[in-house]
Amino acid sequence: MRRDDNWGCPADYIPELARIDPAQFAIAVVTADGKLHTAGDADTPFSVQSVTKVFTLAIALGRSGDQLWQRVGREPSGLAFNSIVQLEREAGRPRNPFINAGAIVTTDEVLAGRAPRDALAEIVQFVRTAAGSDDIHINDAVAASENAHGHRNYALAHFLASFDNLRNPPEMTLGTYFHHCALEMSVRQLAQAGRFLMGVPGMPRLVSMARVRRLNALMLTCGHYDGSGDFAYRVGIPGKSGVGGGILAIVPGKAAIAVWSPGLNRYGNSRKGTEALAVLARKMNWSIF
Ligand code: GLU
Repeated sequence: MRRDDNWGCPADYIPELARIDPAQFAIAVVTADGKLHTAGDADTPFSVQSVTKVFTLAIALGRSGDQLWQRVGREPSGLAFNSIVQLEREAGRPRNPFINAGAIVTTDEVLAGRAPRDALAEIVQFVRTAAGSDDIHINDAVAASENAHGHRNYALAHFLASFDNLRNPPEMTLGTYFHHCALEMSVRQLAQAGRFLMGVPGMPRLVSMARVRRLNALMLTCGHYDGSGDFAYRVGIPGKSGVGGGILAIVPGKAAIAVWSPGLNRYGNSRKGTEALAVLARKMNWSIF
């Protein structure tokens, strides 16, 4: 892995992320006994982007329970994270909560009946509690940068609204969405934040065990967009990626892993991060299969 000098390219459609040096790498692993192991730039905060979709989904399910599934599906999309075409064909019900359209819906659900500030406060608090760290913040410059260039996401949100699948004004839901995507964490914090998904005693208990299993199932089947099958094949554990180059991966009952390397592969998932997870999973014999 170290010998391969193709780091991939950082996300270029969010200008604030495009200028990040792709040749960076960090990993943190928390095992079921609570021990934390790190390597690389483990304390460098990065933009977690779509990894927050796991936390907003957990909150949305907590607020609305299974009713959420009337608005969003649970099937892999087989299409790019920001694809519009499927949304039209399937009458405004996004395939799953981890593609952009689906995460805009879960954000809308978390927002329902309150101000964006309050919804964001709950999301940030959830993540801080999960991570056991108060030093986790939203980078407003990244949110503003995405807002200024987020034509795709605006198109998706208006499309959802046209199918009556948005409860708040598109600008309001998107503002909230861009801000939670702009949360910054180090791999150390992100791995800690993933502990509740391990499903073992002694870890923060933020959702029921049944929900932990379901979140993991969705991460496995939908967590890497149209690269989800490839990730399951190569790594073999649930994971959720973000275009900031982070991946949160869970070995149920055994470990929570966060990797970060901002260069992306063609699916928009961290190139070196995926490779590192594949090597680690193989060496540790970690697989759900
Ligand atoms: N905020 C990003 C977007 O909506 C998230 C995408 C990702 O991380 O995959 O495009």
